[in-house]
Amino acid sequence: MQFKVGIGYDIHRLIAGRPLFLGAVEIPYIKGLLGHSDGDALIHALCDALLGALGLGDIGEHFPDTDPKYQGIASSKLLQAVKGLVDKSGYQINNLDVVIIAQEPKLVPFKQQMKENISSLLGIGQEVLNIKAKTNEGLDAVGNREAIACYAAASLVKGGVK
Ligand code: MG
Repeated sequence: MQFKVGIGYDIHRLIAGRPLFLGAVEIPYIKGLLGHSDGDALIHALCDALLGALGLGDIGEHFPDTDPKYQGIASSKLLQAVKGLVDKSGYQINNLDVVIIAQEPKLVPFKQQMKENISSLLGIGQEVLNIKAKTNEGLDAVGNREAIACYAAASLVKGGVK
């Protein structure tokens, strides 16, 4: 089997009094994502896409939100741990694609920094990581600025660190 593919999804509630982290970038906004960790829904979706491609379950099994060890943890640490599992698998990242759905704030100015941070955490070239951002057209909780959701897809190809 030369290729493996995985998908990931995550949604977090937006609340006042929390910093907003997305794609390992702190984004100035009046609210932030609630979560046991720093709430970085983009990184969580990406972790799930990679774990899915590896056939290794989901982020909740690897980093349970009932474990005090993960209280307030930077999600970049979780992504690095998942990257370790990719390396062990004998596959390497072929490409990654991400969709962020947020009514606010405007994310275009931060996409390049997200790409730089994530590609550096994963040890991949920026050209294999694509980040898309869109609104929810004012619909539902995401459109009502109560939450931010992310989807991710990961493709792995055989060959790489073992
Ligand atoms: Mg999450």
